[in-house]
Amino acid sequence: MDSSGQVEGTVRRLAAQVYRALHGNGLQAEPVVELACLMEELGLSGPAVREILERRPVDLSPSDVDRLGRGLLELMDFEHGFDLEPGLWETLESAVEAVERDLRSSGIEGALRITMPDWDDHGCARVEFRGACGSPPIWPSTGRDAEVALAEVADAAQDVVMDVVWTVWPTCPDHRLGLHAALVEGAAVWRCAGAGTHTAATIGDLPRPRRPHR
Ligand SMILES: [Zn+2]
Repeated sequence: MDSSGQVEGTVRRLAAQVYRALHGNGLQAEPVVELACLMEELGLSGPAVREILERRPVDLSPSDVDRLGRGLLELMDFEHGFDLEPGLWETLESAVEAVERDLRSSGIEGALRITMPDWDDHGCARVEFRGACGSPPIWPSTGRDAEVALAEVADAAQDVVMDVVWTVWPTCPDHRLGLHAALVEGAAVWRCAGAGTHTAATIGDLPRPRRPHR
């Protein structure tokens, strides 16, 4: 009998197979049924699992198989890895390049990069700065939207940079207050709490600090 760790590993592999088939050559009933059985075994039950277990596989039409396959992935909160969709990683890399420009504007030395540390087996990316990569995790799905990716990468970069340099970064060119990354009307920006909250800059386009008030 499998240990639950082995079952979980098999579930992850099958889920990746189902995901690939849904986005590729078409899904067969077999991996869907197998996945449903294992999910039931792990106590991950839900409408899709029950429907699969109650019906005979031969009665499932291709559209049933697709619908149920999606249902299973949804039920297990399936987060596919960067390996299944390399474009997601590229989006994060472009985002980190933009954030690095803001680091340069602030006169802080050191490169930012997207990495997947060995100690993390969740398949998340992190932002690395001067060898430190304790930033919050960035899930592959973040790479679906360039602006969402930019805001999340900026937030993670801020975390790791401040941890390393021990100073507030980035700061508002007008108020010298710390900024935070946000999405405003779908655009990734640095927001400042000064003067009734305002957008200090688009992320990647932070101006160099000016002298405060002439
Ligand atoms: Zn400000």
